[in-house]
This record gives sequence, C-alpha cells and structure tokens, in this order.
Amino acid sequence: MTASTPATSPHVMNTYGRVPIALQRGQGCRVWDVNGKEYLDALGGIAVNTLGHNHAKLVPALQHQLTQLIHTSNYYHVPLQEQLAQLLVERSGMSNVFFCNSGLEANEAALKIARKFGHDQGIEKPEVVVYEKAFHGRSIATLSATGNPKVQAGFGPLVEGFIRVPQNDIEALRRATEGNPNVVAVFFETIQGEGGVNPMRIEYLQQLRKLCDERGWLMMIDEVQCGMGRTGKWFAHQWANIVPDVMPLAKGLGSGVPVGAVVAGPKAANVLQPGNHGTTFGGNPLAMRAGLETIRIMEEDGLLQNAASVGAHLQAALRSALGSLSGVKEVRGQGLMIGVELDKPCGALVGRAAEAGLLISVTAESVIRIVPPLILTTAEADEIVARLTPLVQALLAE
Ligand SMILES: *Cc1c(COP(=O)(O)O)cnc(C)c1O
Repeated sequence: MTASTPATSPHVMNTYGRVPIALQRGQGCRVWDVNGKEYLDALGGIAVNTLGHNHAKLVPALQHQLTQLIHTSNYYHVPLQEQLAQLLVERSGMSNVFFCNSGLEANEAALKIARKFGHDQGIEKPEVVVYEKAFHGRSIATLSATGNPKVQAGFGPLVEGFIRVPQNDIEALRRATEGNPNVVAVFFETIQGEGGVNPMRIEYLQQLRKLCDERGWLMMIDEVQCGMGRTGKWFAHQWANIVPDVMPLAKGLGSGVPVGAVVAGPKAANVLQPGNHGTTFGGNPLAMRAGLETIRIMEEDGLLQNAASVGAHLQAALRSALGSLSGVKEVRGQGLMIGVELDKPCGALVGRAAEAGLLISVTAESVIRIVPPLILTTAEADEIVARLTPLVQALLAE
C-alpha cells in the first residue's frame, strides 16, 4: 500500500467525522497505520480492546474457535454461553444472563425487562428513571433514554416512559417520582462515559439501592463502558458494595469481538420467557469464546489489579502535569477510565494527538477521555502524559 491519507469513502455512510488515518495492525498498546506510523493507543477502540492488540493468548484461542464453530443460532444449546454466563454470574453476584451483540442491544433488553416487570404487576404504562448526560445507545429506545439532545435531534418522536433526573441528587429523584405508581426501574451508568466521565458518588449509589428496595424498583446499571475490569473491579458499582438487578455489558467483554450481555439478579431473571425476546447472532460460539478467554486472561494476568494501579498512577501523573493549568477544570475517573475536563471545547486535540502519535477521544466537547487497554504499563502511562501535556498546554494558550 502506498503512503496516503485516506479520503472519505463515497460508499461508506457518512456517520462519523473521522481522524484522517487508517490503522492496519496492532501489538499490545501500539497500533500502526497504513503508512507505518506508530501510535500509542489510549482509546482502546473506545474501551473495547481490553487485552490490547494481537494478544498472544487470545489470538490462538480465537483461531481454534474458528475451526470449531462460529455460529449455530439459539435454536440449540450453546455450551460456551453457559460457561460465560457462569463466569459473569460468579463475578457479579447476580444469577442469569442473556447474550446479544452490542451495548445498545443489551440496554434495549434491559428496557424490555423493566417494562415487562411492570406489566407483570399490572402497570400498563411503566416508567423508567434516567439521567441527565446519560448515554445508552443509538436505537430509538436507547437514544430516548440518552440524556443528550444532539443524539436525539432528528429522530423524534422519542419513546415515552422516561423520567429524567440529575446525577447524584437523591432528593431530586424523590421529587421526580413522588406518588408515581408507574415507576418500575432506575437506569444509569456508574460512571457516565460519553457524557464526560462523570461518576455516581458511592453514597448516592447506596441511597439509590435502598430506595429501589423500598419502592420495588429494578436497579439497572449500564456498565457497558465502565464494567469488565476497567475501574479495577469487575464492575464499577462494586466500589459501592451494591448489587444491581439488571446490568447491561458490552464494549470490553469480548476484547474487540462484538458481544453484549444483560446480567440479571433474582428480581429480574425470570421476567423474560420464551417468545419474549431473541437474537440471531447473540451468544454465538465465537463471541462466547472471546468473552471466556478475555475473563480467563484478565485473571491469569492480574489485569484488575493492573487497571487499578496503572490507572491510579496515570491519574496522578495527569493531575501533576495538567492539574495546575488554569484551563484545566478537573482530572477524574477510576482505574483506566479517566477524563480531563478543560474549560473550553477541545475536539481539536483528537487530530493533533494522532499527529503526535497518540490515540485519545474527546467527549462532551471539553473532556479528554482516556480508556486504554487494561494491559497498559506504567511506562506507557507516562508516555501518554508526555505526549498529551504539550498539546493541552498549546490548546489552552490559543
Ligand atoms: C458505548 C455505550 C453504549 C452503546 O454501545 P454500542 O455497542 O455502541 O451499541 C451504551 N451504553 C454505554 C454506557 C456506552 O458507553
């Protein structure tokens, strides 16, 4: 292939403003473009590439799986589904799993569970509490649950049955639901990802768990981005010592192979019955193998511990390099899910960082998001800071 900057394709639908590079191969936390230029990957395919690229244990396992079965449909038992469900159940303290292919699909299933949970009790117009700045996906139902007008614009009429409240304000939640018998669930991300790396406070999560128990609501936690070890625990809500009733997963679960899951606890596990929900691809043997191997390798290689310790190191290093600059509002996050909020839009940093050999993203216009593979080393963390710092300084000086 000749050295080139890829042009916008006339045939790929124009849904993304893309960085003008084309990546060709990867190894660990590094990727190379078609011109041979090297990048440090601090984005991990948007919190997806848990094990980085071309992992020496994952790739042979997936190659082996290709020689066995890729897909069979859910008309038959899929033993690998049963195995992955068991691993997720053990690590979450929940009880049953439905497999699908993506984050929005997992959230869509969660919303169906919430509605049927209501209908099963005679509630004909069930309502779900959702949050300002939330992101739950791009389907009609999940974009309606999303708290971002830009995601919703042009796609009305939105799905009804959502009540929106601010993060970390239990009184606001009480007021918004006061005397409303139709509320069936509260649905939120432990740490909002697309909304700008905004964590729910631990005491709020605990108050919420109590309120859900008192009112008979399902606590549904979208851990699509913050789950699967990213924060240093299997699931981010575990920092608050709570267990949800429904937990959608996706992104990091398959280390890049598309896979989603809805994990349910006893209150929600039997809501969906044969005929209520389904998927052609969901839970196929290739995706299940990817999930199984991801969890097995994460444990073998101590990646929860790595995410916690390298994440703490990275956050401290970012704070000492950037924290005192007047245009930096906050460095926040947990483990390897970190946001650096500036006092002005910083989307331009994404392209400039790529030029400087660093892959990052910007969410909520002014938040630099760092969600690298969980295999990141301390040296690589320092390299992220070294490459990012002059770019932020320059941007703030403009
Ligand atoms: C990415 C994301 C989704 C949507 O996942 P897709 O696989 O893109 O459909 C949903 N919820 C959260 C919290 C996410 O970060």
